[in-house]
Amino acid sequence: MLQAQIIDADFYPAVVDTHPAARKGRNAGPERAALKRTGTHRAALRVGVLALCAVLLALLAARVVLWAGRRQETELLVLVNPWNRIEHAGFTPRLVDIGDGQQVDERCAEALKRMLADCAEAGNDPLVCSAYRTRETQKTLYRDKVERLEAAGISEQEAGAIAAMEVARPGTSEHELGLAVDVVDAGHQALDQSQENTATQKWLMENCWQYGFILRYPNGSTGITGIIYEPWHYRYVGTEAAEQIRQLGVTLEEYLTMFYSEEAVVRFER
Ligand SMILES: [Zn+2]
Repeated sequence: MLQAQIIDADFYPAVVDTHPAARKGRNAGPERAALKRTGTHRAALRVGVLALCAVLLALLAARVVLWAGRRQETELLVLVNPWNRIEHAGFTPRLVDIGDGQQVDERCAEALKRMLADCAEAGNDPLVCSAYRTRETQKTLYRDKVERLEAAGISEQEAGAIAAMEVARPGTSEHELGLAVDVVDAGHQALDQSQENTATQKWLMENCWQYGFILRYPNGSTGITGIIYEPWHYRYVGTEAAEQIRQLGVTLEEYLTMFYSEEAVVRFER
């Protein structure tokens, strides 16, 4: 190290001595050549700096695109269930019409149309019987369900609990997100387990993942989702998550726990 410093000290005066400013009036030819070389070096340096800036900007742009993609993906995985109210989800539906007075979020509209068209093309008869619901609609559905149960002799408390598992309490329904649809076979519109036997439902259960949808409340998952088996309720989560959820055979709740940090899930929940 010390030796290196000595060498530098010896070398430095020589550099100063050969600098054009230190040799003004002498050796004009070589000076011009040296200046030309310096100019060439500066131009090369400029090009290098510009190229480096371009690379850095491209990297920054790529990160922004990636971040935007992840953000949308995360938005599509928004969790709304009996323990996660929509008010805390930070999701604002952007509604578009899909015909028959129904609306869904624009982020799933095209995928839904393609899925229904392909389902029909395969010889089935799918019908969207419920899509986006306002808070008022959800309140009405919930209240009607509770009243029907009470009319059948069930206590008020029990009726509320059953209705919560079947139509969801207002503020806890995915239908308020605009990312969920109830699709039935037009020839068999009963919203019960018999729906799973229709050709339409069999096709949808087999193929919905290709369009970014999942059967949100599979048989035997009520303990996790808080909702009864619904072989008609499809939820849009994006194609990547839908494929993984299908391969793993899990619910959205389990998928979020598996692939997102605890903090992320807590953020979804609070
Ligand atoms: Zn539904």
